[in-house]
Amino acid sequence: MTENTGALVCGGGPAGMMLGLLLARAGIAVTVLEKHGDFLRDFRGDTVHPATVRLMDELGLGEGFRALPQSRLGNVAFPAPDGTLVTLGDFTRLPPPYNYIAMVPQWDLLDFLADAARREPTFTLRMNTEVTGLIREGDRVAGVAYRTKDGREGRIRAELTVACDGRGSTLRREAGLVPKEFPVPFDVWWFRLPKLPGDDNTPAGIVPRARGTGAVLALSREDYYQLAYLTAKGADARIRAEGVERFRERIARIRPDFTDRLDQLTDMDQVFMLDVKLNRLNRWYRDGLLLIGDAAHAMSPVGGVGINLAIQDAVAAATLLADPLRHRRVSVSDLAAVQRRRMRPTKIVQAAQRVLQRVVFEGQFTGRRSGPPKAVLFLGRWFPGLRKYPARFVGFGPRPEHAPAFARRP
Ligand SMILES: Cc1cc2nc3c(=O)[nH]c(=O)nc-3n(C[C@H](O)[C@H](O)[C@H](O)COP(=O)(O)OP(=O)(O)OC[C@H]3O[C@@H](n4cnc5c(N)ncnc54)[C@H](O)[C@@H]3O)c2cc1C
Repeated sequence: MTENTGALVCGGGPAGMMLGLLLARAGIAVTVLEKHGDFLRDFRGDTVHPATVRLMDELGLGEGFRALPQSRLGNVAFPAPDGTLVTLGDFTRLPPPYNYIAMVPQWDLLDFLADAARREPTFTLRMNTEVTGLIREGDRVAGVAYRTKDGREGRIRAELTVACDGRGSTLRREAGLVPKEFPVPFDVWWFRLPKLPGDDNTPAGIVPRARGTGAVLALSREDYYQLAYLTAKGADARIRAEGVERFRERIARIRPDFTDRLDQLTDMDQVFMLDVKLNRLNRWYRDGLLLIGDAAHAMSPVGGVGINLAIQDAVAAATLLADPLRHRRVSVSDLAAVQRRRMRPTKIVQAAQRVLQRVVFEGQFTGRRSGPPKAVLFLGRWFPGLRKYPARFVGFGPRPEHAPAFARRP
């Protein structure tokens, strides 16, 4: 049986849930398909930047958003060789109330967006539904084929299909689109360690600690730490072959303060490797199909901007496509307009990430240098007035989007 909808959003990550919410607020029949049964899965990043917090206010969701479990990050600092901390980006210098990064577990953010979207009568979210392929009518994409967790298969036709299925996008592959890859000097190994009575509950540990060719970041959660170990790309097989004891030693060398709980790490299966990617498509659409978020451009973790760019893409897509969708006539040039709007900010942010990767991270992970170059630390230390510029760039990006009028609520 083939079902029908107006807009079909494949993937319920930040891009998909925001797009679903906005299109539903435009009165468009929108169906979001998500392959998982809930949003509570592997660590996916926490950082919600000022541009997105402002968007929540514009959508009338600010109060609810601020009630989610979260901590606030006011600045980004790096340890200097003498052990002191040097602040390189200071969000507190931006005009309030958008002067911090909210650290919100991604599953709470997605649940929150899903709840807001469910209040709209034209919104449908189908969990446990994996998109498996595209339906084509001539050269046009006319919907998708899917399979549910219990093995049921089906097809949904739509005026527009939007691939929000992330960096490993099935729909991108099905559409024959291949992203251009840029070099990345490091990978990330994520794992958890428990909190112990008396631990400080602030996210102060966001300051990266580096030693030798590795670095560790610690994010504070209610009852555990989410840790990231960073080292040169391509080391996963070696790290796993060396075993968990050696991995514990690597962490202890950089974060001796965690030695008291490292015995909780008993198996390398507890350590999840993120193959860091930085890529983008040259073309974000086919007739009837648009790709946004990580499906169109995977971002390096530098600056933690992936969630926010995905959300900004969704806002631009909803703003530009709501009208064509209402008239059930979405043309290729409508889709090209979304790419035109979002390509430039994507390119600028990725270019900045590539520079930072080279200047700050490459030397660290090849053992040539520890921490940022001296000149950067000098500027950060002696010219505090400059710290607001990186904060503004990271927090708002080159083209922050605003909620379209049809989606705004008091
Ligand atoms: C370990 C890790 C840590 C990160 N840390 C940060 C951070 O701190 N800050 C930050 O801003 N960014 C971070 N990122 C990046 C950030 O998570 C992504 O940039 C952002 O989530 C992209 O949003 P998206 O909606 O485009 O894609 P995703 O968040 O990847 O969402 C894609 C969704 O599609 C679903 N899906 C996939 N295939 C199918 C299919 N065939 N059918 C149906 N559903 C499907 C997935 O289950 C998923 O829910 C991190 C990423 C990872 C992996």
